[in-house]
Amino acid sequence: MGKREDLRNVAIIAHVDHGKTTLVDQLLRQSGIFRANEAVAERVMDSGDLERERGITILSKNTAVKYGGTKINIVDTPGHADFGGEVERVLMMVDGVLLLVDAFEGCMPQTRFVLKKALGLGKKPLVVLNKIDRPGARPAEVVDEVLDLFIELGASEDQLDFPVAYCSAREGCASLDPSVPGTDMKPLFEMILNQVPAPEGDLGGPTQVLFSNIDYDEYVGRIGIGRVERGEIKVGQQVAICGGGEEGHRNAKISKLYQFEGLKRVEAESAKLGDIIAVSGITDLNIGETACTTDHIDPLPFVKIDEPTVSMLF
Ligand code: GDP
Repeated sequence: MGKREDLRNVAIIAHVDHGKTTLVDQLLRQSGIFRANEAVAERVMDSGDLERERGITILSKNTAVKYGGTKINIVDTPGHADFGGEVERVLMMVDGVLLLVDAFEGCMPQTRFVLKKALGLGKKPLVVLNKIDRPGARPAEVVDEVLDLFIELGASEDQLDFPVAYCSAREGCASLDPSVPGTDMKPLFEMILNQVPAPEGDLGGPTQVLFSNIDYDEYVGRIGIGRVERGEIKVGQQVAICGGGEEGHRNAKISKLYQFEGLKRVEAESAKLGDIIAVSGITDLNIGETACTTDHIDPLPFVKIDEPTVSMLF
């Protein structure tokens, strides 16, 4: 067994417009990944044309930042209720969840929707109150609203004991004490490192990677996005693809493997327990399937997720 103290995997969940994109921008700016003179593109996580057109986040994208010696993978979640199943799949890849709430607007329908999913999956969200710089922001009241929502959604005692960061993503500052203004994002980085569990498991065991999402790339085709749940995976490795609610398995080869760095997907030779990766070369890969060592085929349980429609939710 082992623990990856050098890694944290988190997702940010929020109602649309509460500041997810701005927050990730700031974490990137203030992390070790970008050099000081390197500009971060505007609205980095919303760069898809379709998203811009519709004004909502459709595809989940991953970003990784570095704080001290620790890599923090930030998995974006779709904010819109139409993509309910995807929220769960994304949440299954992470050990920690940041619930981002506008300190002026308070809890909104999508706050409730994504929080319900996170609590249901047993996640222990960290609460981030954003936009505390807004005139009329009411952080204390909104924390109470958030607490009420946790209670209403049946949070466990452990989940109810959430830490709170007070933040202005726009100004790039966070504080754990609402009466003391923050000067940078350090308190939020520290909260993530201290409160989100480091991935833990069998570092030396046979390969097991659970794919939670599928993406497409115009050059390499179908890409599986998943998390290494056991052991290590390497470029060129022969694997058995199994699970996903089906019997049997088929063999495949990992032709390319990527990890996330800043906003980029970069090629890597290998990845290990806890890493969130993208792989290409498995042309018929499906969501929910597991890649295993060929002589140790043990698929992870397939979690069937219903895709609810908006009308079913509200
Ligand atoms: P997303 O939909 O959650 O990704 O939200 P965005 O990051 O796109 O932010 C929505 C709007 O809120 C934008 O106009 C941001 O500039 C603004 N915004 C984000 N963070 C802050 C903040 O800390 N303070 C203020 N005043 N505005 C913010």
